[in-house]
Amino acid sequence: MRLYRIFLLLIFFSSCYTTTQLATTSAVVDITRADAGNAKKARPRNVVLMIGDGMGLNQVSAAMYSTSEPLALERFQTIGIHKSHSADDLITDSAAGATAFACGVKTNNSYLGLDPQGKKHPSLLRQAASKGYKTGLVVSSTIVHATPAAFFAYNTNRNAYDSIAADLPGAKVDFIVGGGKKYFDRRKDDTLNLITQLREQGYLVTDYFEQDYASWTVPDVPRVAFFTADGDPLPVVNGRDYLPKASVDALNFLSRRERKGFFLMIEGSQIDWGGHANDAGYVITEMRDFDRAVRAVLDFAERDGNTLVVITGDHDAGGLTITGGKQGDLECKFSTGKHTGGCIPVYAYGPGSDAFAGFYDNTQIYHKLKKLMLD
Ligand SMILES: [Zn+2]
Repeated sequence: MRLYRIFLLLIFFSSCYTTTQLATTSAVVDITRADAGNAKKARPRNVVLMIGDGMGLNQVSAAMYSTSEPLALERFQTIGIHKSHSADDLITDSAAGATAFACGVKTNNSYLGLDPQGKKHPSLLRQAASKGYKTGLVVSSTIVHATPAAFFAYNTNRNAYDSIAADLPGAKVDFIVGGGKKYFDRRKDDTLNLITQLREQGYLVTDYFEQDYASWTVPDVPRVAFFTADGDPLPVVNGRDYLPKASVDALNFLSRRERKGFFLMIEGSQIDWGGHANDAGYVITEMRDFDRAVRAVLDFAERDGNTLVVITGDHDAGGLTITGGKQGDLECKFSTGKHTGGCIPVYAYGPGSDAFAGFYDNTQIYHKLKKLMLD
């Protein structure tokens, strides 16, 4: 009799445990489904678009295998692929590539902010600014180089730097860090002083000559522009180190001032230049620097909870291939001194990030961001 009671009790407890366990499991499933549903509908308050110029999957791989320290890019769970070709060439340049991301149109190589017929397409940055968002551009090239230029300029010639610079004051970008001061105050095309124009629009304008970016504290002003070089900024191996700090400064500056949200574009510009130079060390050091900026942005987005981070490249450069070696000591070869036509990875985190999984044209980066942020 006593044994029978114990047996019944055991059955009771084991069935309770099983029921509880099942209930808990199904509750977990329901919550997960609910979160997935919310994530699909979620609108980000802020958007950070990070572009590794010349960053294909092989550049990411080389950086990943270059040391034992994992990349911040490895933290992303939502990954997509984009087709990088331009309107007039299977091999895009950075002007057409950035115009696809910034303006949503496939255009000819060398065109900025224009479709192949020459029609202007206002960028996400210009549209966000006109709707009351705070905006920023942080790059490790000149600020008039093709990728940042597609976010504020209209031009059929990506090399018309004086003309491109003249479009910057009207774009009302709140936080600007990049090189190329000479295109603003010692111009070949005319005698305009665009730095004076920027100051008249409420900018605090300063540069590398007045102080090192590393020791600069961003002043409490409505708009700021820091020129990090007269022409091209240095490569990381020659001492450039501002991109991660400038990314953090941009996030702090814009998040303190925004009333509606912000749009920030950060470019690791010189990964591409390492590819053109067929210099694996140059590619890897620039990739690692860009990844330090990625880490800072991702840490911010995780704390903030309302920031969508999308990271991609515009194209591969150099056709870098890992042919052997071992972790920390890679053997790499290059197939060209130009760009190649391979598809490019996209990494996304935050509200709305689900939209960036899949296989799509580079112009869809614009359309997906616009729908999530501005429509
Ligand atoms: Zn290039």
